[in-house]
Amino acid sequence: MEPGARPPRRLNLEVSIVALGVLGTVLLGVSLAWNINQIRDRTIDGALIQARVAYEKDIVFRRWNNQHGGVYVDAAVTPPNPYLSDIPERDIRTPSGRKLTLVNPAYMTRQVYELEATATGLYGHITSLEPLRPQNAPDPWERIALEAFDRGVEEVHAVQPLNGKEYMRLMRPLITEEGCLTCHHERGYVLGKPWGGISVSVPMKELRAIEWESIRTVILAHLLLWAIGIAGVIVGGRSLVASERGLRRAEGEARAAADRLQESNRLKDLFIDIVRHDLLNPASVVRYYTSYLQEGETDPAKKECYLKIEGVNDRLMDLIRNASKYSRLEEMDHVDCQELDLGTLLLDALAVHEHRLKEAGIAVNYLPRGGYPITANPMVEDVFANLIANAIKYAGDGKKLEIDILDEGACWVVQVRDFGKGIPDKDKPMIFTRFTRLKKEGVEGSGLGLAIVKRLVDLHKGRIWVEDNPAGGSVFCVRLPKNGPTSPCAD
Ligand code: ADP
Repeated sequence: MEPGARPPRRLNLEVSIVALGVLGTVLLGVSLAWNINQIRDRTIDGALIQARVAYEKDIVFRRWNNQHGGVYVDAAVTPPNPYLSDIPERDIRTPSGRKLTLVNPAYMTRQVYELEATATGLYGHITSLEPLRPQNAPDPWERIALEAFDRGVEEVHAVQPLNGKEYMRLMRPLITEEGCLTCHHERGYVLGKPWGGISVSVPMKELRAIEWESIRTVILAHLLLWAIGIAGVIVGGRSLVASERGLRRAEGEARAAADRLQESNRLKDLFIDIVRHDLLNPASVVRYYTSYLQEGETDPAKKECYLKIEGVNDRLMDLIRNASKYSRLEEMDHVDCQELDLGTLLLDALAVHEHRLKEAGIAVNYLPRGGYPITANPMVEDVFANLIANAIKYAGDGKKLEIDILDEGACWVVQVRDFGKGIPDKDKPMIFTRFTRLKKEGVEGSGLGLAIVKRLVDLHKGRIWVEDNPAGGSVFCVRLPKNGPTSPCAD
Protein backbone atom coordinates (compact mmCIF):
# COMPACT_ATOMS: atom_id res chain seq x y z
CA MET A 1 0.00 0.00 0.00
CA GLU A 2 1.34 3.40 -0.94
CA PRO A 3 2.02 5.88 1.87
CA GLY A 4 -1.10 7.95 2.61
CA ALA A 5 -3.35 5.53 0.72
CA ARG A 6 -6.61 4.49 2.36
CA PRO A 7 -6.56 1.03 4.06
CA PRO A 8 -8.59 -1.57 2.16
CA ARG A 9 -12.32 -1.33 2.91
CA ARG A 10 -12.61 -5.13 3.12
CA LEU A 11 -10.35 -5.16 6.19
CA ASN A 12 -12.68 -2.63 7.87
CA LEU A 13 -15.67 -4.82 7.05
CA GLU A 14 -14.00 -7.94 8.42
CA VAL A 15 -12.94 -6.10 11.58
CA SER A 16 -16.53 -4.85 11.99
CA ILE A 17 -17.91 -8.38 11.61
CA VAL A 18 -15.45 -9.77 14.18
CA ALA A 19 -16.25 -6.82 16.49
CA LEU A 20 -19.96 -7.62 16.12
CA GLY A 21 -19.30 -11.24 17.09
CA VAL A 22 -17.18 -10.17 20.09
CA LEU A 23 -19.77 -7.59 21.16
CA GLY A 24 -22.58 -10.17 20.94
CA THR A 25 -20.48 -12.67 22.94
CA VAL A 26 -19.70 -10.08 25.62
CA LEU A 27 -23.37 -9.02 25.85
CA LEU A 28 -24.51 -12.63 26.16
CA GLY A 29 -21.79 -13.24 28.76
CA VAL A 30 -23.02 -10.26 30.79
CA SER A 31 -26.61 -11.49 30.47
CA LEU A 32 -25.56 -15.00 31.61
CA ALA A 33 -23.70 -13.63 34.63
CA TRP A 34 -26.67 -11.44 35.57
CA ASN A 35 -29.12 -14.35 35.25
CA ILE A 36 -26.93 -16.68 37.33
CA ASN A 37 -26.64 -13.99 39.96
CA GLN A 38 -30.41 -13.61 40.05
CA ILE A 39 -30.89 -17.38 40.44
CA ARG A 40 -28.34 -17.47 43.29
CA ASP A 41 -30.07 -14.55 45.00
CA ARG A 42 -33.38 -16.39 44.74
CA THR A 43 -31.80 -19.51 46.32
CA ILE A 44 -30.55 -17.43 49.25
CA ASP A 45 -33.98 -15.75 49.57
CA GLY A 46 -35.68 -19.16 49.53
CA ALA A 47 -33.32 -20.52 52.20
CA LEU A 48 -33.85 -17.43 54.33
CA ILE A 49 -37.63 -17.77 54.11
CA GLN A 50 -37.37 -21.43 55.16
CA ALA A 51 -35.15 -20.48 58.10
CA ARG A 52 -37.50 -17.71 59.23
CA VAL A 53 -40.54 -20.00 59.03
CA ALA A 54 -38.71 -22.64 61.09
CA TYR A 55 -37.70 -20.04 63.64
CA GLU A 56 -41.26 -18.60 63.93
CA LYS A 57 -42.66 -22.12 64.41
CA ASP A 58 -40.14 -22.83 67.21
CA ILE A 59 -41.02 -19.61 68.92
CA VAL A 60 -44.76 -20.44 68.82
CA PHE A 61 -44.10 -23.89 70.36
CA ARG A 62 -41.91 -22.35 73.04
CA ARG A 63 -44.53 -19.71 73.81
CA TRP A 64 -47.23 -22.33 74.14
CA ASN A 65 -45.07 -24.30 76.58
CA ASN A 66 -44.16 -21.14 78.44
CA GLN A 67 -47.80 -20.04 78.72
CA HIS A 68 -48.61 -23.38 80.37
CA GLY A 69 -45.68 -23.16 82.83
CA GLY A 70 -44.09 -26.20 81.20
CA VAL A 71 -45.71 -29.55 80.52
CA TYR A 72 -45.49 -32.87 82.27
CA VAL A 73 -44.46 -35.87 80.21
CA ASP A 74 -43.82 -39.55 80.86
CA ALA A 75 -40.55 -39.71 82.82
CA ALA A 76 -39.93 -43.18 81.41
CA VAL A 77 -39.61 -41.61 77.89
CA THR A 78 -38.09 -38.25 78.82
CA PRO A 79 -35.59 -38.40 81.66
CA PRO A 80 -35.96 -35.66 84.33
CA ASN A 81 -33.98 -32.55 83.45
CA PRO A 82 -31.15 -32.13 86.00
CA TYR A 83 -31.04 -28.41 85.28
CA LEU A 84 -34.58 -28.09 86.66
CA SER A 85 -33.75 -29.91 89.91
CA ASP A 86 -34.45 -26.83 91.99
CA ILE A 87 -38.06 -26.71 90.74
CA PRO A 88 -40.10 -28.15 93.67
CA GLU A 89 -42.52 -30.16 91.55
CA ARG A 90 -40.20 -31.18 88.77
CA ASP A 91 -41.26 -34.80 89.18
CA ILE A 92 -44.79 -35.87 90.13
CA ARG A 93 -46.81 -39.08 90.19
CA THR A 94 -50.27 -39.66 88.80
CA PRO A 95 -52.85 -41.20 91.18
CA SER A 96 -52.17 -44.51 89.43
CA GLY A 97 -48.45 -44.22 90.27
CA ARG A 98 -47.06 -43.24 86.81
CA LYS A 99 -44.02 -40.95 87.08
CA LEU A 100 -44.17 -37.63 85.19
CA THR A 101 -41.43 -35.02 84.80
CA LEU A 102 -41.61 -31.33 83.94
CA VAL A 103 -40.44 -30.24 80.48
CA ASN A 104 -39.76 -26.51 80.15
CA PRO A 105 -39.56 -24.67 76.76
CA ALA A 106 -35.78 -25.08 76.44
CA TYR A 107 -35.93 -28.81 77.18
CA MET A 108 -38.83 -29.27 74.75
CA THR A 109 -37.12 -27.25 71.99
CA ARG A 110 -33.95 -29.28 72.36
CA GLN A 111 -35.87 -32.54 71.98
CA VAL A 112 -37.84 -31.22 69.00
CA TYR A 113 -34.58 -30.10 67.33
CA GLU A 114 -33.07 -33.54 67.75
CA LEU A 115 -36.11 -35.06 66.03
CA GLU A 116 -36.07 -32.41 63.30
CA ALA A 117 -32.37 -32.96 62.58
CA THR A 118 -32.92 -36.64 61.82
CA ALA A 119 -36.19 -36.07 59.87
CA THR A 120 -35.45 -32.95 57.74
CA GLY A 121 -31.77 -32.13 58.14
CA LEU A 122 -32.83 -28.79 59.58
CA TYR A 123 -30.65 -27.98 62.51
CA GLY A 124 -31.78 -25.85 65.48
CA HIS A 125 -29.86 -24.71 68.49
CA ILE A 126 -30.87 -22.77 71.52
CA THR A 127 -27.90 -21.00 73.00
CA SER A 128 -26.72 -18.13 75.17
CA LEU A 129 -23.43 -16.54 76.16
CA GLU A 130 -23.83 -18.03 79.69
CA PRO A 131 -25.50 -21.38 79.12
CA LEU A 132 -26.78 -23.44 82.06
CA ARG A 133 -26.04 -26.58 80.10
CA PRO A 134 -22.52 -26.80 78.54
CA GLN A 135 -23.93 -28.32 75.29
CA ASN A 136 -25.87 -25.10 74.76
CA ALA A 137 -22.65 -23.12 74.41
CA PRO A 138 -22.55 -21.10 71.15
CA ASP A 139 -20.27 -21.98 68.26
CA PRO A 140 -18.04 -19.12 66.97
CA TRP A 141 -20.66 -17.83 64.46
CA GLU A 142 -23.44 -17.97 67.08
CA ARG A 143 -21.23 -16.15 69.58
CA ILE A 144 -20.75 -13.24 67.15
CA ALA A 145 -24.54 -13.14 66.57
CA LEU A 146 -25.29 -13.21 70.33
CA GLU A 147 -22.89 -10.34 70.89
CA ALA A 148 -24.67 -8.44 68.09
CA PHE A 149 -28.04 -8.97 69.84
CA ASP A 150 -26.63 -7.25 72.91
CA ARG A 151 -26.00 -4.23 70.65
CA GLY A 152 -29.65 -4.26 69.56
CA VAL A 153 -29.34 -6.25 66.28
CA GLU A 154 -32.59 -8.19 65.68
CA GLU A 155 -31.50 -10.83 63.18
CA VAL A 156 -28.25 -12.26 61.87
CA HIS A 157 -28.11 -14.60 58.89
CA ALA A 158 -25.44 -15.95 56.57
CA VAL A 159 -24.62 -18.95 54.39
CA GLN A 160 -22.10 -20.82 56.49
CA PRO A 161 -20.42 -24.21 56.56
CA LEU A 162 -21.56 -26.35 59.43
CA ASN A 163 -20.16 -29.81 60.10
CA GLY A 164 -18.58 -29.69 56.65
CA LYS A 165 -21.85 -28.85 54.84
CA GLU A 166 -23.36 -25.66 53.55
CA TYR A 167 -26.22 -24.17 55.58
CA MET A 168 -28.31 -21.02 55.64
CA ARG A 169 -27.90 -19.99 59.23
CA LEU A 170 -30.34 -17.59 60.86
CA MET A 171 -30.30 -16.42 64.40
CA ARG A 172 -32.67 -14.23 66.35
CA PRO A 173 -32.60 -13.30 70.03
CA LEU A 174 -34.71 -15.03 72.68
CA ILE A 175 -36.52 -12.36 74.69
CA THR A 176 -37.28 -13.03 78.35
CA GLU A 177 -41.03 -13.55 78.75
CA GLU A 178 -43.06 -13.80 81.99
CA GLY A 179 -42.95 -17.64 82.06
CA CYS A 180 -39.15 -17.75 81.67
CA LEU A 181 -38.70 -16.19 85.11
CA THR A 182 -40.30 -19.27 86.78
CA CYS A 183 -37.21 -21.34 86.02
CA HIS A 184 -34.59 -18.66 85.42
CA HIS A 185 -35.41 -15.97 88.02
CA GLU A 186 -32.17 -16.49 89.93
CA ARG A 187 -30.00 -16.20 86.72
CA GLY A 188 -30.62 -12.48 86.41
CA TYR A 189 -33.00 -12.64 83.40
CA VAL A 190 -34.69 -9.27 82.76
CA LEU A 191 -38.24 -9.23 81.32
CA GLY A 192 -38.22 -8.03 77.66
CA LYS A 193 -34.39 -8.33 77.33
CA PRO A 194 -32.53 -10.97 75.23
CA TRP A 195 -31.06 -13.75 77.25
CA GLY A 196 -29.84 -15.89 74.39
CA GLY A 197 -30.88 -16.86 70.93
CA ILE A 198 -32.19 -19.55 68.67
CA SER A 199 -30.17 -20.42 65.67
CA VAL A 200 -31.81 -22.25 62.80
CA SER A 201 -29.68 -23.82 60.06
CA VAL A 202 -31.36 -24.86 56.81
CA PRO A 203 -29.31 -27.29 54.67
CA MET A 204 -28.55 -25.75 51.26
CA LYS A 205 -28.02 -29.05 49.43
CA GLU A 206 -31.52 -29.40 47.94
CA LEU A 207 -31.83 -25.71 47.22
CA ARG A 208 -28.44 -25.77 45.49
CA ALA A 209 -29.59 -28.74 43.38
CA ILE A 210 -32.65 -26.75 42.25
CA GLU A 211 -30.43 -23.73 41.70
CA TRP A 212 -28.06 -25.73 39.48
CA GLU A 213 -31.03 -26.96 37.38
CA SER A 214 -32.04 -23.35 36.72
CA ILE A 215 -28.46 -22.26 36.06
CA ARG A 216 -27.96 -25.13 33.63
CA THR A 217 -31.13 -24.18 31.72
CA VAL A 218 -29.98 -20.56 31.51
CA ILE A 219 -26.48 -21.59 30.37
CA LEU A 220 -27.93 -23.86 27.67
CA ALA A 221 -30.32 -21.13 26.47
CA HIS A 222 -27.45 -18.63 26.30
CA LEU A 223 -25.20 -21.12 24.53
CA LEU A 224 -27.95 -21.77 21.97
CA LEU A 225 -28.50 -18.05 21.46
CA TRP A 226 -24.76 -17.49 21.13
CA ALA A 227 -24.43 -20.30 18.58
CA ILE A 228 -27.35 -18.94 16.52
CA GLY A 229 -25.96 -15.40 16.77
CA ILE A 230 -22.41 -16.41 15.80
CA ALA A 231 -23.76 -18.56 12.94
CA GLY A 232 -25.81 -15.54 11.77
CA VAL A 233 -22.75 -13.27 12.00
CA ILE A 234 -20.60 -15.79 10.11
CA VAL A 235 -23.18 -16.42 7.36
CA GLY A 236 -24.20 -12.75 7.09
CA GLY A 237 -20.58 -11.64 7.32
CA ARG A 238 -19.52 -14.02 4.56
CA SER A 239 -22.23 -12.84 2.21
CA LEU A 240 -21.39 -9.21 3.08
CA VAL A 241 -17.71 -9.83 2.38
CA ALA A 242 -18.65 -11.62 -0.86
CA SER A 243 -20.93 -8.80 -2.02
CA GLU A 244 -18.33 -6.24 -0.98
CA ARG A 245 -15.77 -8.18 -3.00
CA GLY A 246 -18.18 -8.17 -5.97
CA LEU A 247 -18.71 -4.46 -5.50
CA ARG A 248 -14.98 -3.82 -5.49
CA ARG A 249 -14.57 -5.97 -8.59
CA ALA A 250 -17.34 -4.00 -10.31
CA GLU A 251 -15.73 -0.77 -9.12
CA GLY A 252 -12.41 -1.92 -10.58
CA GLU A 253 -14.07 -2.85 -13.86
CA ALA A 254 -15.93 0.47 -13.97
CA ARG A 255 -12.68 2.31 -13.28
CA ALA A 256 -10.92 0.34 -16.04
CA ALA A 257 -13.81 1.07 -18.42
CA ALA A 258 -13.66 4.76 -17.46
CA ASP A 259 -9.92 4.72 -18.13
CA ARG A 260 -10.48 3.06 -21.49
CA LEU A 261 -13.20 5.59 -22.28
CA GLN A 262 -10.92 8.43 -21.30
CA GLU A 263 -8.22 7.03 -23.55
CA SER A 264 -10.59 6.59 -26.48
CA ASN A 265 -11.95 10.12 -25.88
CA ARG A 266 -8.40 11.40 -25.99
CA LEU A 267 -7.83 9.58 -29.28
CA LYS A 268 -11.15 10.89 -30.60
CA ASP A 269 -10.20 14.46 -29.66
CA LEU A 270 -6.86 13.94 -31.39
CA PHE A 271 -8.63 12.61 -34.45
CA ILE A 272 -11.11 15.52 -34.49
CA ASP A 273 -8.23 17.94 -34.26
CA ILE A 274 -6.58 16.23 -37.22
CA VAL A 275 -9.88 16.29 -39.12
CA ARG A 276 -10.57 19.95 -38.33
CA HIS A 277 -7.20 21.39 -39.10
CA ASP A 278 -4.91 18.96 -40.83
CA LEU A 279 -7.42 17.52 -43.36
CA LEU A 280 -9.55 20.55 -44.16
CA ASN A 281 -6.58 22.75 -45.07
CA PRO A 282 -5.03 20.40 -47.68
CA ALA A 283 -8.56 19.67 -49.03
CA SER A 284 -9.07 23.46 -49.52
CA VAL A 285 -5.71 23.63 -51.32
CA VAL A 286 -6.75 20.71 -53.56
CA ARG A 287 -10.02 22.54 -54.35
CA TYR A 288 -8.20 25.77 -55.18
CA TYR A 289 -5.71 24.17 -57.55
CA THR A 290 -8.32 21.93 -59.18
CA SER A 291 -10.53 24.90 -60.11
CA TYR A 292 -7.39 26.79 -61.25
CA LEU A 293 -6.36 23.90 -63.54
CA GLN A 294 -9.95 23.45 -64.73
CA GLU A 295 -10.25 27.10 -65.78
CA GLY A 296 -7.15 27.00 -68.03
CA GLU A 297 -7.91 23.53 -69.49
CA THR A 298 -9.06 23.19 -73.10
CA ASP A 299 -9.04 19.37 -73.37
CA PRO A 300 -12.66 18.28 -72.56
CA ALA A 301 -11.51 14.86 -71.21
CA LYS A 302 -9.11 16.48 -68.76
CA LYS A 303 -11.72 19.12 -67.84
CA GLU A 304 -14.15 16.26 -67.03
CA CYS A 305 -11.47 14.72 -64.76
CA TYR A 306 -10.92 18.01 -62.91
CA LEU A 307 -14.67 18.36 -62.44
CA LYS A 308 -14.85 14.87 -60.88
CA ILE A 309 -11.90 15.64 -58.56
CA GLU A 310 -13.65 18.86 -57.53
CA GLY A 311 -16.93 17.03 -56.78
CA VAL A 312 -15.23 14.30 -54.73
CA ASN A 313 -13.14 16.90 -52.91
CA ASP A 314 -16.29 18.92 -52.07
CA ARG A 315 -17.89 15.80 -50.60
CA LEU A 316 -14.74 15.13 -48.61
CA MET A 317 -14.77 18.67 -47.21
CA ASP A 318 -18.50 18.37 -46.47
CA LEU A 319 -17.88 15.14 -44.59
CA ILE A 320 -15.00 16.68 -42.61
CA ARG A 321 -17.10 19.71 -41.64
CA ASN A 322 -20.12 17.61 -40.69
CA ALA A 323 -18.10 15.07 -38.71
CA SER A 324 -16.39 17.84 -36.80
CA LYS A 325 -19.73 19.61 -36.18
CA TYR A 326 -21.40 16.36 -35.04
CA SER A 327 -18.61 15.45 -32.62
CA ARG A 328 -18.71 18.99 -31.17
CA LEU A 329 -22.47 18.70 -30.64
CA GLU A 330 -22.08 15.24 -29.08
CA GLU A 331 -19.74 16.68 -26.47
CA MET A 332 -22.22 19.40 -25.48
CA ASP A 333 -24.78 18.71 -22.75
CA HIS A 334 -26.63 22.00 -23.10
CA VAL A 335 -26.88 25.04 -25.35
CA ASP A 336 -26.93 28.71 -24.37
CA CYS A 337 -30.10 30.35 -25.61
CA GLN A 338 -31.30 33.83 -26.54
CA GLU A 339 -34.48 35.52 -27.74
CA LEU A 340 -34.88 34.77 -31.48
CA ASP A 341 -37.60 34.73 -34.09
CA LEU A 342 -38.30 31.34 -35.62
CA GLY A 343 -39.69 32.89 -38.83
CA THR A 344 -36.48 34.88 -39.35
CA LEU A 345 -34.37 31.72 -38.79
CA LEU A 346 -36.39 29.87 -41.42
CA LEU A 347 -36.10 32.73 -43.93
CA ASP A 348 -32.32 32.88 -43.30
CA ALA A 349 -32.05 29.13 -43.93
CA LEU A 350 -34.02 29.55 -47.17
CA ALA A 351 -31.72 32.43 -48.18
CA VAL A 352 -28.66 30.14 -47.73
CA HIS A 353 -30.12 27.77 -50.33
CA GLU A 354 -31.79 30.39 -52.56
CA HIS A 355 -29.37 29.79 -55.42
CA ARG A 356 -29.65 25.98 -55.30
CA LEU A 357 -33.44 26.16 -55.06
CA LYS A 358 -33.57 28.31 -58.15
CA GLU A 359 -31.12 26.01 -59.94
CA ALA A 360 -33.30 22.99 -59.13
CA GLY A 361 -36.44 24.88 -60.18
CA ILE A 362 -38.11 24.35 -56.79
CA ALA A 363 -40.92 26.73 -55.89
CA VAL A 364 -41.05 27.62 -52.21
CA ASN A 365 -44.41 28.20 -50.50
CA TYR A 366 -43.60 29.98 -47.23
CA LEU A 367 -46.80 30.10 -45.12
CA PRO A 368 -45.86 31.66 -41.72
CA ARG A 369 -47.13 35.18 -41.05
CA GLY A 370 -46.16 37.52 -38.22
CA GLY A 371 -43.68 36.90 -35.35
CA TYR A 372 -42.69 33.55 -33.83
CA PRO A 373 -40.62 34.39 -30.74
CA ILE A 374 -38.51 31.57 -29.39
CA THR A 375 -35.72 31.15 -26.82
CA ALA A 376 -33.10 29.12 -28.68
CA ASN A 377 -29.50 28.92 -29.76
CA PRO A 378 -28.79 30.50 -33.19
CA MET A 379 -27.39 27.09 -34.25
CA VAL A 380 -31.01 25.97 -34.59
CA GLU A 381 -30.94 27.61 -38.04
CA ASP A 382 -28.76 24.64 -39.15
CA VAL A 383 -31.74 22.36 -38.47
CA PHE A 384 -33.84 24.09 -41.11
CA ALA A 385 -30.92 24.65 -43.51
CA ASN A 386 -30.29 20.87 -43.41
CA LEU A 387 -33.94 19.97 -43.98
CA ILE A 388 -34.14 22.39 -46.93
CA ALA A 389 -30.89 21.02 -48.35
CA ASN A 390 -32.25 17.46 -48.08
CA ALA A 391 -35.50 18.50 -49.76
CA ILE A 392 -33.42 19.85 -52.65
CA LYS A 393 -31.19 16.75 -52.72
CA TYR A 394 -33.71 13.98 -52.25
CA ALA A 395 -37.04 15.48 -53.27
CA GLY A 396 -36.05 18.03 -55.89
CA ASP A 397 -38.11 16.30 -58.58
CA GLY A 398 -41.29 17.33 -56.73
CA LYS A 399 -40.36 20.89 -57.70
CA LYS A 400 -42.20 22.27 -54.72
CA LEU A 401 -41.35 23.01 -51.08
CA GLU A 402 -43.81 24.19 -48.44
CA ILE A 403 -42.83 25.61 -45.04
CA ASP A 404 -45.22 26.31 -42.18
CA ILE A 405 -45.15 26.97 -38.41
CA LEU A 406 -47.94 25.61 -36.13
CA ASP A 407 -48.69 26.99 -32.68
CA GLU A 408 -48.98 24.18 -30.06
CA GLY A 409 -49.22 26.32 -26.96
CA ALA A 410 -45.84 25.92 -25.26
CA CYS A 411 -44.19 24.86 -28.53
CA TRP A 412 -43.79 25.77 -32.15
CA VAL A 413 -43.94 22.99 -34.71
CA VAL A 414 -42.07 23.72 -37.97
CA GLN A 415 -43.15 21.68 -40.99
CA VAL A 416 -40.88 21.31 -44.03
CA ARG A 417 -43.04 19.64 -46.68
CA ASP A 418 -41.57 18.31 -49.94
CA PHE A 419 -43.28 16.58 -52.86
CA GLY A 420 -40.63 14.00 -53.74
CA LYS A 421 -40.66 10.19 -53.55
CA GLY A 422 -41.06 10.13 -49.77
CA ILE A 423 -39.41 7.78 -47.28
CA PRO A 424 -40.61 4.17 -46.71
CA ASP A 425 -42.06 3.55 -43.20
CA LYS A 426 -39.37 0.98 -42.35
CA ASP A 427 -36.61 3.54 -43.01
CA LYS A 428 -38.19 6.45 -41.13
CA PRO A 429 -36.76 5.59 -37.64
CA MET A 430 -33.25 5.07 -39.08
CA ILE A 431 -32.66 8.26 -41.01
CA PHE A 432 -31.87 10.26 -37.84
CA THR A 433 -29.00 7.92 -36.92
CA ARG A 434 -25.58 8.87 -38.15
CA PHE A 435 -24.27 7.46 -41.42
CA THR A 436 -27.69 6.05 -42.35
CA ARG A 437 -27.94 6.75 -46.01
CA LEU A 438 -30.82 4.96 -47.62
CA LYS A 439 -29.79 5.09 -51.28
CA LYS A 440 -26.89 7.00 -52.65
CA GLU A 441 -28.18 7.39 -56.20
CA GLY A 442 -25.42 9.85 -57.02
CA VAL A 443 -26.64 12.28 -54.40
CA GLU A 444 -23.95 13.99 -52.36
CA GLY A 445 -24.08 13.63 -48.60
CA SER A 446 -22.28 12.29 -45.56
CA GLY A 447 -25.21 10.56 -43.83
CA LEU A 448 -24.60 12.88 -40.87
CA GLY A 449 -27.00 15.70 -41.75
CA LEU A 450 -30.11 14.40 -39.96
CA ALA A 451 -28.02 13.12 -37.03
CA ILE A 452 -26.74 16.68 -36.55
CA VAL A 453 -30.31 17.97 -36.88
CA LYS A 454 -31.59 15.52 -34.24
CA ARG A 455 -28.74 16.34 -31.85
CA LEU A 456 -29.51 20.08 -32.16
CA VAL A 457 -33.23 19.45 -31.55
CA ASP A 458 -32.41 17.20 -28.56
CA LEU A 459 -30.20 19.90 -27.04
CA HIS A 460 -33.26 22.20 -27.25
CA LYS A 461 -35.40 19.48 -25.56
CA GLY A 462 -37.51 19.32 -28.68
CA ARG A 463 -38.51 16.50 -31.02
CA ILE A 464 -38.10 15.71 -34.71
CA TRP A 465 -39.97 13.17 -36.80
CA VAL A 466 -40.99 12.55 -40.39
CA GLU A 467 -44.47 11.92 -41.77
CA ASP A 468 -45.79 11.09 -45.20
CA ASN A 469 -47.08 13.98 -47.28
CA PRO A 470 -50.59 12.89 -48.45
CA ALA A 471 -49.84 14.64 -51.74
CA GLY A 472 -46.61 12.56 -52.09
CA GLY A 473 -43.26 13.23 -50.48
CA SER A 474 -42.30 13.79 -46.84
CA VAL A 475 -43.12 16.24 -44.08
CA PHE A 476 -40.27 16.83 -41.62
CA CYS A 477 -41.72 18.15 -38.32
CA VAL A 478 -39.62 19.90 -35.67
CA ARG A 479 -41.22 20.69 -32.32
CA LEU A 480 -39.34 23.27 -30.20
CA PRO A 481 -40.27 24.73 -26.81
CA LYS A 482 -41.03 28.44 -27.09
CA ASN A 483 -39.32 29.27 -23.78
CA GLY A 484 -36.13 27.31 -24.28
CA PRO A 485 -34.88 23.89 -23.14
CA THR A 486 -35.68 24.54 -19.45
CA SER A 487 -39.43 24.39 -20.19
CA PRO A 488 -39.80 21.46 -22.59
CA CYS A 489 -43.29 20.95 -24.00
CA ALA A 490 -45.19 17.74 -23.32
CA ASP A 491 -45.03 15.18 -26.09
P1 ADP B 1 -26.90 12.97 -46.00
O1 ADP B 1 -25.87 13.76 -45.30
O2 ADP B 1 -26.35 11.79 -46.69
O3 ADP B 1 -27.82 13.77 -46.78
P2 ADP B 1 -28.89 12.82 -43.98
O4 ADP B 1 -28.64 12.40 -42.58
O5 ADP B 1 -29.19 14.24 -44.21
O6 ADP B 1 -27.70 12.28 -44.83
O7 ADP B 1 -30.09 11.95 -44.48
C1 ADP B 1 -30.13 10.58 -44.24
C2 ADP B 1 -30.91 9.88 -45.34
O8 ADP B 1 -32.30 10.20 -45.24
C3 ADP B 1 -30.53 10.32 -46.71
O9 ADP B 1 -29.45 9.56 -47.21
C4 ADP B 1 -31.79 10.07 -47.50
O10 ADP B 1 -31.81 8.77 -47.98
C5 ADP B 1 -32.90 10.25 -46.52
N1 ADP B 1 -33.59 11.55 -46.65
C6 ADP B 1 -33.33 12.69 -45.95
N2 ADP B 1 -34.18 13.69 -46.33
C7 ADP B 1 -34.99 13.16 -47.28
C8 ADP B 1 -36.10 13.69 -48.04
N3 ADP B 1 -36.51 14.95 -47.92
N4 ADP B 1 -36.69 12.85 -48.91
C9 ADP B 1 -36.27 11.56 -49.05
N5 ADP B 1 -35.25 11.00 -48.35
C10 ADP B 1 -34.62 11.80 -47.48
